[in-house]
Amino acid sequence: MATGQLTIDRAKSAERIGRDVDNLAGPDYTLSDEAIKRYAYTQVYRNTLDYFASELQALGFEVYEDPVGTFVARNRPAGEGVFGVGSHCDSNRNGGKYDGTLGVVTALEICRLNNELGLGLPLKLISFLEEEGSGFGQMLLGSRIIAQRVEEKELRESFLSEDDGRPFWEHAEEAGYEPERWREAVQVLDDLYGWIELHIEQARVLQDTGHRIGIVNAIAGYVHADITIRGRSDHAGATPMDFRQDAGLVAAECMLELERLASAAGGGTVGTVGEMELKPGLINAVPGEARFSLDIRGVDEGAFRGVARDIAAFAEKAAGERGMTAGYTQRQTLSAMQLDDNVVAALESAVEASGEPYMAMHSGAAHDTMSIADRVPSAMVFVPCKDGISHSPEEYANPADAALGAEIMLNAIRSLSTSG
Ligand SMILES: [Zn+2]
Repeated sequence: MATGQLTIDRAKSAERIGRDVDNLAGPDYTLSDEAIKRYAYTQVYRNTLDYFASELQALGFEVYEDPVGTFVARNRPAGEGVFGVGSHCDSNRNGGKYDGTLGVVTALEICRLNNELGLGLPLKLISFLEEEGSGFGQMLLGSRIIAQRVEEKELRESFLSEDDGRPFWEHAEEAGYEPERWREAVQVLDDLYGWIELHIEQARVLQDTGHRIGIVNAIAGYVHADITIRGRSDHAGATPMDFRQDAGLVAAECMLELERLASAAGGGTVGTVGEMELKPGLINAVPGEARFSLDIRGVDEGAFRGVARDIAAFAEKAAGERGMTAGYTQRQTLSAMQLDDNVVAALESAVEASGEPYMAMHSGAAHDTMSIADRVPSAMVFVPCKDGISHSPEEYANPADAALGAEIMLNAIRSLSTSG
């Protein structure tokens, strides 16, 4: 173990972190002047990577990008073990300054502190491509490519630009990348003996319990699916109540049942219907078809998957009782991810030594860390964001909390680097 707890000049780090965040909210780094809007293969995204590249090169890091554009910087030659830090610096289309970017900026600050304090830690900074899915509608795209959790056909044909409908593949080529080498992206993880991502919490638990730091020990898995109820569309005035097959009523029953199932499931399970579509969608027509989305998550794999199964069965039964049918289609799913005990313990020791109270928690939101945690011992650090707001220009996080996070991460990395 490294001897003694390192303390940093937190005010100085907070000032630098705040400055980087503000710089990256300037007009060269966002497509909108009302929000942060930044995604793959746009000039503002290129500028953002260039910002990190020049800061890191000044610290003696070698910088490069994987075959589709995930950004990597390292201070040791290939073949030598390095500890990974970072996050993502793309935003959603109406985003704030902190989601993702704060994690990369804090990782940059860790690299600065490593030099300034002469710690000599072997580090690799990673900024994953397209975490938010704003460019091609695919969340965690860069890290899923690294983890080989995509099909080539999807990259060539199915993942389409939200702007012009053309495939990811063409856009990557036009931006100067080599998507045909996408399988080599896995090399981003080479030599990593650990990984920590700092991120804003995106909920209000830390704020409301008065904590500045959350140590994340698991990331919820999820099921994204749709249920479609098929009934019969009739005239809303002319058709008596007992002559109807109103698909909307079954959808309503399902929404309430989902609330009941998720609440009963435990294990941090949550279930949400975020989209609902009635056809023909007219004020004077009984809905003949209802489609609604399911977003079901949790850290207990059996519990949240059970909810998905049960709501599908319930929909079928509820539709059948009214003489209708129900169909369930899965869009995307990801398993819950337990994070690494050693990395979590190192972070907990570091935060305890700092004297700052912390909260052990799981992440309900998906993060790139879940794409790599089965290959690299990983954990995450959460800092509060004001009122839990994220994915909005209203987003705010205190750079002082990120500076505290940097100190804790630095100490954890030190202990993991000398004990292993
Ligand atoms: Zn994020």
